Amino acid sequence: MRTFFCSLIMVCLLLSCGGIRTDKDKQLRILTCGIRHESNTFSTLRTGLSDFNVQRGPQVLVEKHLWSEYLKSEKDVEIIPTLHAYAWPGGMVTKEAYEQFKGEILQGIRKAGALDGIYMDMHGALHVDGYEDAQADLIKSIREIVGDEVVISASFDLHGNPSDEFVKGLDLVTCFRTAPHRDGEETKLRAVKNLLKVLREDLQPQMAYVTIPILVPGEKSITEVEPLHSIYERLDTLEHSEGLMDASIFVGYAWADLPRSAMRVFVVAQDSFHLDKAGQEACRLAQDIWHVRRKLELDVESGTMDEMIRRAGELPQKTVFISDSGDNTTAGAPGDNPQFIEALLRQKADNALFAGLVDEEAYSQCVNAGIGGKLRLTMGGRRDTVFGHPLTLDVTVEAMAQDSLLSTSRGAVLVESEGVHIAIINSRRSFTTLQDFTDLGIDPLDYKIVVVKLGYLYPELRDIAPVHLMALTSGFCNLDMRTLPFQKVHRPSYPLDLNMEWEAELRK
Ligand SMILES: [Zn+2]
Repeated sequence: MRTFFCSLIMVCLLLSCGGIRTDKDKQLRILTCGIRHESNTFSTLRTGLSDFNVQRGPQVLVEKHLWSEYLKSEKDVEIIPTLHAYAWPGGMVTKEAYEQFKGEILQGIRKAGALDGIYMDMHGALHVDGYEDAQADLIKSIREIVGDEVVISASFDLHGNPSDEFVKGLDLVTCFRTAPHRDGEETKLRAVKNLLKVLREDLQPQMAYVTIPILVPGEKSITEVEPLHSIYERLDTLEHSEGLMDASIFVGYAWADLPRSAMRVFVVAQDSFHLDKAGQEACRLAQDIWHVRRKLELDVESGTMDEMIRRAGELPQKTVFISDSGDNTTAGAPGDNPQFIEALLRQKADNALFAGLVDEEAYSQCVNAGIGGKLRLTMGGRRDTVFGHPLTLDVTVEAMAQDSLLSTSRGAVLVESEGVHIAIINSRRSFTTLQDFTDLGIDPLDYKIVVVKLGYLYPELRDIAPVHLMALTSGFCNLDMRTLPFQKVHRPSYPLDLNMEWEAELRK
């Protein structure tokens, strides 16, 4: 089958030439807002209001971020922060949560009066129960209030899926250039710097973008290794090329069964004279990505749980990290499937650490038992009832994180059963940093096997792991796209349709 996917859209959002931005003494009034969430549509769980960490008004500026410190340091800028909400990746967001956040953002915009620019701090993979495209709904509502003259710049995680409808409402788009993510702060700073550049120099940015029909999990699109490494390296050069302002590649978020789930390339020209150049560069990047699609594979050895445990035993390295990839909370899974603990016990794994299992109830029982306490504990299988089931073991409580006594979301206990050490945590998260381990007084490098509920290792772990194996476990973040029950995603899409052909085409 030969398919031409007409996918390059020139977004010609002409900015007003009313002269208001040429007044050099003028204060630039910049409003900020954001709803960041990566919504896994395969999950049976929902992400509600209480799952979000929300900052409102001046609170937004309390935490020091590069973007906000930069805006604060610019004498000609007045910042009007409204609402910034963030939740750990999970099932789709409830209507109630989204409508509350949207309502507060719109109210903030109405109250703000005349604005010059808006910075939107987004993830890009937000999906809301009852909405086809909540991000498009949000930008449409914002534009209804501010009109077309206000310049809107948005930053994204490269795992976002911003739809055409959403992008139409934006003037500037940029996203992370690293996965695992190392440049979140720099990306947001770039978004606000580009916004100020447009306002101060009275530019009329134009975006060229291409949607590439590829569904790829983050684990197969790591930017530190080929084939994507050298393609991502071109972005920095492009950004500094004459007449261009920015260039981005979204690898997209594949665990979302939505028409907008795909890879995307954006190139931003500073004016219409350079739009053709932006379009050519966007097409070149998109076509080069398409050519290497079959090389978008795991950068580590993979196999079943039992194969990976056996493999770890054969390897000479003192410590082997294994990802329980199907139940990866950082891609939206529940994180409470104990099947890997069963596998470690079944194989009598020596000196193994399982970090960690999300289970508030089991966690509380261990806190009550105290360090040294022995109890019969039922753990896991409460949230993910599709792939998981509860596991009951006789355990001894070995350690407790300091925060456990403070009832924070970082509570963690370490229990031991038949030589397997299990971290049980009181909120849905994964062990992504060294602090997650040191909270419990443990060093991951003291264990032979460290199982984490991740796909790829996050930077701090990736940097210390002597070796990493990927266990292809069942769950809502299954890494084999072809086994997921896609129904709404745009077809044809690689790798669901292996024999398709595609070319990046310009559509004006
Ligand atoms: Zn991401």
